[in-house]
Amino acid sequence: MTWLDLPADTLFGLDNLPYGVFSTAGDPQRRRLGVAIGGQVLDAGAAARAVGSPDPLLEAATLDPLLAAGRPAWTRVREALTRWLTEPAFRPVIEPCLLPRADVTLHLPFTVGDYVDFYASEHHASNLGRLFRPGSEPLTPNWKHLPIGYHGRSGTVVVSGTPVVRPNGQRKAPADAAPTFGPSRRLDIEAEVGFVVGAGSELGTPVPMADFAEHVFGVCLVNDWSARDIQAWEYVPLGPFLGKSFATSVSPWVVPLDALAAARVAPPARDVEPLPYLDDRDTKEPWGLDLALEVRVNGTLISRPPFAGMYWTAAQMLAHMTVNGASVRPGDLFASGTVSGPERGTEGALIELTWNGERPAQLADGSGRAFLEDGDAVTITATAPGPNGTRIGFGEVTGRILPAR
Ligand code: MN
Repeated sequence: MTWLDLPADTLFGLDNLPYGVFSTAGDPQRRRLGVAIGGQVLDAGAAARAVGSPDPLLEAATLDPLLAAGRPAWTRVREALTRWLTEPAFRPVIEPCLLPRADVTLHLPFTVGDYVDFYASEHHASNLGRLFRPGSEPLTPNWKHLPIGYHGRSGTVVVSGTPVVRPNGQRKAPADAAPTFGPSRRLDIEAEVGFVVGAGSELGTPVPMADFAEHVFGVCLVNDWSARDIQAWEYVPLGPFLGKSFATSVSPWVVPLDALAAARVAPPARDVEPLPYLDDRDTKEPWGLDLALEVRVNGTLISRPPFAGMYWTAAQMLAHMTVNGASVRPGDLFASGTVSGPERGTEGALIELTWNGERPAQLADGSGRAFLEDGDAVTITATAPGPNGTRIGFGEVTGRILPAR
């Protein structure tokens, strides 16, 4: 129970409590840590002060100190927030710390450390293999033995709402004799799920799958904007580079791992036996997650990618990312790779959804989209099962395309 008047179907109920960083119009320079609840945001630092137990972890202008503090602190803070929002005795001091969510500006909630992007959907990897390497096996020989990834550019990770300038670069279609330079003509999205590392690990020591929840703080949504023409020409042999690094958008709310207990599901059966450090078949609770994504272009729903079908789990990604002894640090972000399901209308990228532009997506205004046009706005949302039939919301990651400069 709560003393708050929450709509029964809110996606930001007491079981969610995602963390973000906000400022207000009256005090735009001061960034504060907030927790979304219903249509409001709780000023977490002010709330701790109001109950007489100020907390340095909640006074920061970013989530960084809370991330670094580790699992015991995450549990303690979440329990305190839940108590303040439920026990009627706290109402008089906590209520003044609530602001309408519509009135605040949300910021990038943590300092992004290293950024890694995986490629964990078998359907996406197969589709891209067919489109980028027609005539060869869609999946590369390593695909079912390890979660493939690459290191991206953390400095260009931006918060939802930040405009995305169409990138310039070298483009060369297979039939062209030579590359040309100019604005990307095949600007695309990748609907992904991001995992935010809290507690770091020691250099030289891998993080086993069993320690996933000790290191990962929470989950956000990611749009890995992709210039397919730049990507196709540059990616052999070292992988994605300028076709991806111009911008990666993340949602402003980080949903704590603790909020996703009811969303955990068994990952799909693997048809290749994983090596022991990736073998979760006997694990009681592997980290499959039943997140339902939705992708909208200019308001038209064009796809519903299902995260539950991802071949590799986030725990396997973290285990693989550190198996060579590479360490993780607070604020590291790793994304799942494009979430695509097996059916039409579940693809997480336009290149798959429109099959290289051959079957454009129909928008509500009657226009079709093979790839993104200047002025287009893309919004990705997601929900997950919460306790007792409720739903947990992730908010949204959105971005509008500006013309090339
Ligand atoms: Mn990606």
